[in-house]
Amino acid sequence: MHETLKELKGRLLEIYDLSMAAAVLRWDQATYMPPGGAGARGRQMATLSRIAHERLTEPGMGRLLDRLEPWTAGLPHDSDEACLVRVTRRAYDRAIKVPSAFVSELDEHASLSYQTWTTARPRNDFASVRPLLEKTLEMSRRLADFFPGYESIADPLIDYSDYGMKASSVRAVFAELRARLVPLVRAITERPAPDDRCLRQSAPEADQLAFGLEVLRKFGFHFERGRQDLTHHPFMTKFSLGDVRITTRVRKQDLTDALFSTLHEAGHAMYEQGIRRDHEGTPLADGASAGVHESQSRLWENLVGRSRGFWEFFYPKLQAAFPAQLRPVPLDTFYRAINRVERSLIRTDADEVTYNLHVMMRFDLELDLLEGRLAVRDLPEAWRARFESDLGIPVPDDRDGVLQDVHWFSGPIGGAFQGYTLGNILSAQFFAAAIAAHPGIGAEIARGEFDTLHGWLREHVYQHGARFTAAELVERATGSPMTIEPYIAYLWGKYQPLYGLAGEQPGALAGRRAG
Ligand code: ZN
Repeated sequence: MHETLKELKGRLLEIYDLSMAAAVLRWDQATYMPPGGAGARGRQMATLSRIAHERLTEPGMGRLLDRLEPWTAGLPHDSDEACLVRVTRRAYDRAIKVPSAFVSELDEHASLSYQTWTTARPRNDFASVRPLLEKTLEMSRRLADFFPGYESIADPLIDYSDYGMKASSVRAVFAELRARLVPLVRAITERPAPDDRCLRQSAPEADQLAFGLEVLRKFGFHFERGRQDLTHHPFMTKFSLGDVRITTRVRKQDLTDALFSTLHEAGHAMYEQGIRRDHEGTPLADGASAGVHESQSRLWENLVGRSRGFWEFFYPKLQAAFPAQLRPVPLDTFYRAINRVERSLIRTDADEVTYNLHVMMRFDLELDLLEGRLAVRDLPEAWRARFESDLGIPVPDDRDGVLQDVHWFSGPIGGAFQGYTLGNILSAQFFAAAIAAHPGIGAEIARGEFDTLHGWLREHVYQHGARFTAAELVERATGSPMTIEPYIAYLWGKYQPLYGLAGEQPGALAGRRAG
C-alpha cells in the first residue's frame, strides 16, 4: 500500500502545483499586472485549470483510490491516510461528473462576464450584462444537473463551497437567525445613531498600512510566510503553506477601512498558515469549507478587532499614528463609531448586525433564479423590492443594487453567499469555545496579547485543514453542532449596552418556546 499511496501523493502534488501556479497568475492580475496583460493572462489561467482538471480525472486516479479504500477503511477516521483518501475521493467523484469541455466553457464565460461587469457596474448598465447572466444561469443549472438526485437544484452548488449543507438546511438556519435578527435591527435603529464623523477622515496610505501590519505582528501573522499588497477588491490567496498572500486597499476619507480589511484577510491567512505543514501538496492543505474559512476572518475582524478590549490597547497607538485626526476623539466615541449599526446599501460595508440580511436576500434570490421562480430580466426589480422590504431603504440604481457584488458575474449562480452568514454564526461559536477553555482571553486581548486565542484556533481549527468536514470540525472544536445561540448572545451582549437597549434579548422568548 505504501507504493500506491506514494503514487497518489505524487499525482496530487502535480495537481496542487498547477493550481498554485494559477493562483500566482490570478494574484498578479489583481495587484501588479498592467491592463495589456489581460487577454493572455485569462488564457494562461484557463490552460492551467484545464490541465489540473484533466490530471484529477484521469482513470488512473480512480484506480488508485479503488485500491487504497479497502485499506483505509480499516484505519481510524482521523488518520492521515484515511483523511487523504476520503477527501481526494470526494474531489475526484465531483470532478469526473463534469466534462472538461464544460469546465473550460464555464471558465471562459465567467471571464467574459467579469470583464463586461467591470464596465457595466460604473455605467449602471444592467442591460449589457443581462444576456451573459442568462447564460450563467443556464450553465449553473447544467452544472447542477451533472449531480442528479438533488432535492433542490441549488444543492450541488452549495455542496461545492459548504460541503454537507443543502438549500433546505441553509434555509432552516437562516429562518431561525432572521427571526432573532430582525427585532434586534429594529430595536437598534430606533435608537439615535452614534456619530461616526471621526472615521471619515483621510490619512497617508503608508501610515495606514504600517498600522495594520503592526496589529498583524501582534496577532501572530507569519511575515516570513506571507505578505500584503494593494488591490481594488481585497482577498486572500496562497501559493503554498509557506507563502500566503493578503491584499487590502486604502480609501480616501476613510480612516479604518483598510485596517478592518487587513484584519479580515489576515484571519483567512492565519488559518492557511496554521495548517499542518506536512499536508502541503495535498487537498488537505485547504480550509474545511467556505463557512469555516469566513468564520476565521470574521473572528479576527469583528469579535477581536471591533471589541472594546482590543481598542483599549490599540487606540492610544492609533491616536499616536494619526494625532491630527484622532487626538481630540475619545476612545468611547471611536468605539461607538466603528460599531455603528445602520441600514445601508452595500453588503461589504454593512455592520455586523445588518450584514446577514444582505446575505439572506441574495441566497433567496439565487434559489428563485435556479428553481425557476424568477427570470434574469426581472432580477433588478426583484432585488429592489426585496431590499426595500428587508432593509427599509430605497435602492437608487442597479450599480448599488443588483450589480454591486462580483459573484454572479464571475462564476456560477448558487452557493456563493451562504458561507458569509455561516461564517458569522461559526465565528461566535468558535470564539465562545476558546473563551470557555481559557477565560483569560478577554483580558489578554485588552493587553494586546493574542497567543492564547491564536494557539486555541491553531490546535482546534487551523492545523486540521480540510481533514474534517465543517460539521465534524465544529463538533470536535466546540462540543456541539452549529448553533446560532453564541452568535445571538454575542450580538446582544455587545449591542445592548452600546445602544442602551431595554429589556430582554429580542426573540429570546420565541426562541425558547421553539425549543
Ligand atoms: Zn472573507
